[in-house]
Amino acid sequence: MSSLRGALSSGVPSFSFEFFPPKTDKGDRTLWDTVRRVEPLSPTFVSVTYGAGGSSRERTVEVTRRIGAETTLRPVAHLTAVGHSVAELRHIIGQYADAGIKDVLVLRGDPPGDPNGPWTPHPDGFTYAYELVELVRSLGDFTIGVAAFPEMHPRSPDWDSDIRHFVAKCRAGADYAITQMFFHVEDYLRLRDRADAAGCDVPIIPEIMPATDVRQIRRFAELSHAAFPEDLAHRLEAVRDDPAAGHRIGVEHATAMAGRLLDEGAPGLHYITLNRSTAAVDIHRDVLGSRSFRVS
Ligand code: FAD
Repeated sequence: MSSLRGALSSGVPSFSFEFFPPKTDKGDRTLWDTVRRVEPLSPTFVSVTYGAGGSSRERTVEVTRRIGAETTLRPVAHLTAVGHSVAELRHIIGQYADAGIKDVLVLRGDPPGDPNGPWTPHPDGFTYAYELVELVRSLGDFTIGVAAFPEMHPRSPDWDSDIRHFVAKCRAGADYAITQMFFHVEDYLRLRDRADAAGCDVPIIPEIMPATDVRQIRRFAELSHAAFPEDLAHRLEAVRDDPAAGHRIGVEHATAMAGRLLDEGAPGLHYITLNRSTAAVDIHRDVLGSRSFRVS
């Protein structure tokens, strides 16, 4: 298998799916059904989020390792600096390397409990993601991804500061970035233009969040500080007790957005699955069906 770095610099749009480590046996079965459904689509990669603390973190390592060992998929492991000393972070990165996983999405993370609460670094750890990027880069030939924020990181005082630190994080050794969820294409394009104007040309892959359930999506949008379009909210509200209709509206909206992003030159699409494949796979099929390009 060629490196992820190579696949992302091929000029052919990538596509990828994001999972989270399940907490229960039932959740585990749902995840693996989804993994098996996504596998024949041959995505460029799949990623596994890193838990806020405790055993969910071990499950991230285990799920990532199993995907690498038991499927044909390329797993990307998310890793955050939250609550870890540098020695612990070295150990986790070593575990990935031992399992043959060479692709890491490096994040600072949010305070456990209240993501908007005060950020306190581990006394022997890191304060910002760029420091973890430097560590991963120093430990081997990893392909490194980082986070980008089309509506600015909520803790950034202004755009100048946000872009300056994003560019510094990329220069520390990132190969690509994946965005936070967003619902207005213009926000992505402005972020890309700003990074470009600052001399940063790492591919910024937009994250696609299928909005099929108005209650759930409002909660996620609030947590991620993403502005949710009121017209879409009203359409979903009107069918809140009809999941099939919500699915149709969400898939149609995300497909149109994904198509426009690719038309505007986005280097790929990263689909949130919430461990269920239906909406993400339907969007992906509709996007591919409406276009004649290959994907990497
Ligand atoms: P940073 O790049 O460190 O930025 C955080 C803030 O600090 C920004 O405002 C930035 O401008 C500022 N900053 C950076 N450097 C400096 C500096 N030198 N001086 C002053 N200010 C600075 N969270 C999880 O817990 N697990 C996950 O698996 C996970 N996956 C994610 C995947 C994606 C695609 C995205 C977009 C986010 C994900 N997150 C995850 C959430 C992420 O951890 C949070 O959004 C976090 O608040 C920001 O992380 P970061 O890596 O962008 O931090």
